[in-house]
Amino acid sequence: MTSVAERETATTPTPGRVSHWIGGQLVAGTSGREGPIYDPATGAITRYVDFASVAELGAAVAEATSAYPAWRATSLSKRTDIMFRIRNLVEQHRHELAAHLTAEHGKVPSDALGEIARGLENLEFACGIPNLIKGGFSEQVSTGVDVYQIRQPLGVVAGITPFNFPAMVPMWMFATAIATGNTFILKPSEKDPSAANFMAELLREAGVPAGVFNVVHGDKVAVDAILAHQGIAAVSFVGSTPIARYIYETGTKAGKRVQALGGAKNHMIVLPDADIEMAADAAISAGYGSAGERCMAIATIVAVGDVADPLVEAIKARLPRVKVGPGSDPSSEMGPLVTKQHRDKVASYLDSSAAQGATVVADGRELPLYKDSDGFFLGVSLIDHVTTEMDAYRDEIFGPVLTVVRVATYDEAVTLINDNPYGNGTAIFTRDGGAARQFQFEVNAGMVGINVPIPVPVAYYSFGGWKNSLFGDLHMYGPEGIQFYTRAKIVTSRWPDPGTSRIDLGFPRTR
Ligand code: NAD
Repeated sequence: MTSVAERETATTPTPGRVSHWIGGQLVAGTSGREGPIYDPATGAITRYVDFASVAELGAAVAEATSAYPAWRATSLSKRTDIMFRIRNLVEQHRHELAAHLTAEHGKVPSDALGEIARGLENLEFACGIPNLIKGGFSEQVSTGVDVYQIRQPLGVVAGITPFNFPAMVPMWMFATAIATGNTFILKPSEKDPSAANFMAELLREAGVPAGVFNVVHGDKVAVDAILAHQGIAAVSFVGSTPIARYIYETGTKAGKRVQALGGAKNHMIVLPDADIEMAADAAISAGYGSAGERCMAIATIVAVGDVADPLVEAIKARLPRVKVGPGSDPSSEMGPLVTKQHRDKVASYLDSSAAQGATVVADGRELPLYKDSDGFFLGVSLIDHVTTEMDAYRDEIFGPVLTVVRVATYDEAVTLINDNPYGNGTAIFTRDGGAARQFQFEVNAGMVGINVPIPVPVAYYSFGGWKNSLFGDLHMYGPEGIQFYTRAKIVTSRWPDPGTSRIDLGFPRTR
């Protein structure tokens, strides 16, 4: 394990390089391993990120462990004050933070600012920590005896986050984790790691003591070290389903509390009575926003009955209006995909769908930027007459590809969703309140929208899917986040009272 003294002799972090943030400062990587960071809009490598070794993760745990006693003893009012400062600093510096997201993820500035705004909600929620962490109190459960519950932090906790929300998903986790008195280690995606370090600097400026918030960059080596380290009490994960399952199984086997959110295949049912223009607008926004790289993106439109033809026409008519381009162009509404490899995988579904009998209504490879640019661009694609056996239905595509499955009845539509192995978000578009109510009652998914295509819960509810979209018992942030990052202690208390004191060797009963 690298000690602080050893670290002082390590190479100073190189400008233009993304190093770890341990013990309140940048710490150059010593493992000799690194990864490239691309600007997805140009295809160029812009920086490199250090990949941590097991020892470097150990150094972060050591710092977080030594910071824990003082942090958990810090009064609620002081912690609240710091949470307010973090919230204000992130808000003040949102344009710089957004610039990191555009530079490394590729999302356009309006989308990046939207991501930050949703993350800010979690910081605002955490400012209410004195109220949120209150336990219960039962007076006089027995004569002279009171019982109360307190919620205490777990210790050192870790968060492992995906590429698609480099600012918001870390905020989902660390806002609640540190407000409840834990110390935190973040392992961000290696594809867009700079936002994490930028937030670390803001936290330091806000008065978060050294070691309370740490960032360890890297790949599977760092993740496996987190899962194995006995000094880490809990792990929050957001990413793809195979890795989420692995994190859950490995982390719980090592005795940790784990919440692991996985991938998604979100369906949007459109009933024949729906407002078609509204449904088409929603499909475009939810299917192509952030280039479809959202776990709550609509992937599949389930068109019921005779709504299919006019709906597909209405969506098709809107496609030429979606402006695809780099985030540096203020008129761009959709940016590139995160890597060339991912872009090409997404594009491959256009060929497989056609080969498997679907109708490609719009092919994103016809976008001039697809061929003329070194950036990882792909235009918007629409595939109709998709069936449940096709790869484009079965896989999470995670790109700007909307698929349309046609069914005859509402019952068929619900069965389709309930049979799908994922259960993150889903939506129904209808004017029929009874149908919507029946849908919310019987659909097997964790987050439901009624004429709302991306029903990401506000920060005072919790976020989480069902089935293969979440492994664990507790959803993320909000009230379930408070539960996840704390454990209950129940105190039964009696004060010396000569009036009630007597010897009784029987099992304690209420009296
Ligand atoms: P990913 O699973 O590839 O990576 C997520 C994290 O796991 C990263 O930090 C990565 O470094 C690490 N990782 C990757 N491979 C690993 C391995 N073999 N062993 C250990 N760690 C590993 O996911 P991604 O591509 O970064 O993100 C996109 C995925 O995340 C999509 O499937 C999307 O649906 C999902 N996602 C889900 C939610 C949700 O709330 N359910 C939210 C956002 C993204």
